[in-house]
Amino acid sequence: MNRKYFAAAAAILAVAFAVLWIAYGAGSAARQTFALADSRTPRKTVYLTFDDGPSDRVTPKILDILDSENVKATFFIIGCQAETRDYLVKRESDSGHTVAVHSYSHRYSDIYRSPKALIADIERCNDVIERITGKRAKVYRFPGGSHGLDERLKSAVTAHGMKYVDWNASMRDAEQPAADADGLFKNAVETSAGRNDIVLLSHDSTNKTSTPEATKRIIKYYKRNGYTFGTL
Ligand SMILES: [Zn+2]
Repeated sequence: MNRKYFAAAAAILAVAFAVLWIAYGAGSAARQTFALADSRTPRKTVYLTFDDGPSDRVTPKILDILDSENVKATFFIIGCQAETRDYLVKRESDSGHTVAVHSYSHRYSDIYRSPKALIADIERCNDVIERITGKRAKVYRFPGGSHGLDERLKSAVTAHGMKYVDWNASMRDAEQPAADADGLFKNAVETSAGRNDIVLLSHDSTNKTSTPEATKRIIKYYKRNGYTFGTL
């Protein structure tokens, strides 16, 4: 064989070998990563929830952050605030967030008077949601949470075809309205530590001005720690 042809053939073989080696190496690395993610890493999910909105001052900021981080959340809204703020509820719904029932009036003395009064309040809030979004919500959160409530109130909600959801972590932005974003972020980290499924309580009512910044930080924190974001 001519020396020139031999050199060319050797070069082609070397390139082919390198291509095969890279393809095989990359393929096995990808398979290994996939297998690790599949079998050994527990699935970690966080459900961001915002109660007591919508508010003109805070809700748009939270929606902007959720948009820029490409994260979906659940808004437990107050009907009497929502009925004059269609644009916010519509934006929540159009952006793929869950719009859920919190209360129409949020007045404990009215809504917890009887199961009948509670369901009437839920329905009134859901009428507002349906008028704006075109659909009725199936998810509910008791104002103040379900803990310690009369069992008849809880069973009335489930008998009405709705599921109620509390929380297992909190920014504590209701108890500490003057806290800065750093404090709220720390509260969220501490109360959710060690959990694979987190339902984080926070608020988008008008005086919760540190909550948007805390939300931005906690989203980045959960992303760094391998969580995905779900809606209820
Ligand atoms: Zn509330």
